[in-house]
Amino acid sequence: MVYIISLFLALFNISYSAPFAQAAVTETPNFVILFADDMGYGDAGCYGHPTIRTPNLDRMAVEGMKFTNFYSASPACTASRYALLTGKYPVRSGFGWVLYPKSELGIHPKEVTIAENLKDAGYATACYGKWHLGSTREEYLPNQNGFDDYTGLPYSNDMIPPRQQEIALLENGDTLEMGPDQSLLTGLYTRKATEFIKAHKNDPFFLYLPYAMPHIPLYPGKEFAGTSLRGLYGDVIEEIDWSVGEILNTLKEQGLAENTLVIFTSDNGPWIIKDTLGGSAGLLRDGKGSTWEGGMREPMIAWWPGHITPGSVQMQQASTLDIFPTLAVLAKIGYNPTEPIDGSDMTGILTGNAALPVRTFFYHKDSELHGVRKGPWKLLTTTNSQTGKEYFDGKLPLLFNLDIDPSEKYDLSDQYPGIVSELAVEMEKHRDYLEAHPDYHTRFPLN
Ligand code: MG
Repeated sequence: MVYIISLFLALFNISYSAPFAQAAVTETPNFVILFADDMGYGDAGCYGHPTIRTPNLDRMAVEGMKFTNFYSASPACTASRYALLTGKYPVRSGFGWVLYPKSELGIHPKEVTIAENLKDAGYATACYGKWHLGSTREEYLPNQNGFDDYTGLPYSNDMIPPRQQEIALLENGDTLEMGPDQSLLTGLYTRKATEFIKAHKNDPFFLYLPYAMPHIPLYPGKEFAGTSLRGLYGDVIEEIDWSVGEILNTLKEQGLAENTLVIFTSDNGPWIIKDTLGGSAGLLRDGKGSTWEGGMREPMIAWWPGHITPGSVQMQQASTLDIFPTLAVLAKIGYNPTEPIDGSDMTGILTGNAALPVRTFFYHKDSELHGVRKGPWKLLTTTNSQTGKEYFDGKLPLLFNLDIDPSEKYDLSDQYPGIVSELAVEMEKHRDYLEAHPDYHTRFPLN
């Protein structure tokens, strides 16, 4: 269901008719994915935060589409990135959860990433930011996975490789710096991103900017430190918001706005056990690492002037799994026909008022299947909490109507046993499907 706010439409017409430079003409759109780390559903102004200022994200929502039922396919960093880049459930990766600098696993060379798919179709590709899909073998790194240009931390900003004292900043496989000043990272990634956009204004391009933060430790740039009412966490989010503004403004200045789809979302929910250093899931239960809504439902804004209805709010369920096939469709290319992916094309809900068929979405923690959502209904047969809390006195299964009860407060499993059974069958079918599709690391072990 899409609500069009006529006031925003009027604003859009005023904003967009005059100031655009002549749009560069390419046959297919450019794509930009801005990916925060551990930002919660409630951490942007346009998602209801009372004191964090996010004027650029708010404007992006006014000019674009704000999703309210959008999921990351995992509540953890590495697994979430795998799903985003491959369109497949992380349980199919062979690692399923979080990789550490010493981890021998990574994204398998046979996996096809969004970047590889688009690069094959002639797109220029770049990644500036946190990789976190393996770093102990060259073939796991961004340049070997479809990205022409890369600068960033190959893992989380709190991870120190064994036998080293400091975190590494890489540039195209080489170590650029050990122990970089993390307060400069958001600025560095933003500058790299805007330079890449300008350099490729006449080519189709794919830009992936996975921010290092608000994953802890929090290091705002000096212009932002101490400036937010929300403290250090707010400073960091407000800097990310500035970065979003820089990128949208660059696209406008270069005449590329109407030819570029920009997506902003986060890899997983907030790290709530870090007290005020962690974010907020708003009205959702729990956070990062858990399969409650707060762990996996994310802020998501899509912006593509002239194609997406400005000021629209998208309540249909979608997820990061859908981004790979959507970009493939918009780029007018296919994707890896020999290997099924788990997402589906959401072009219809981005560019029109189309309804997607009612789909299932499965909640995993690592290799464990915890639950399923279909329409408004969510069944949980296993639960976990980042805080260690046991809700509902450990009762299982639990059934929620998320349209009516997004906070998962009211268990309806006793009232609707037929829906519990139907969803349990979906989970069994999913287990069978996973069994029939073992991961590449199992099928093709690397020496
Ligand atoms: Mg994360």
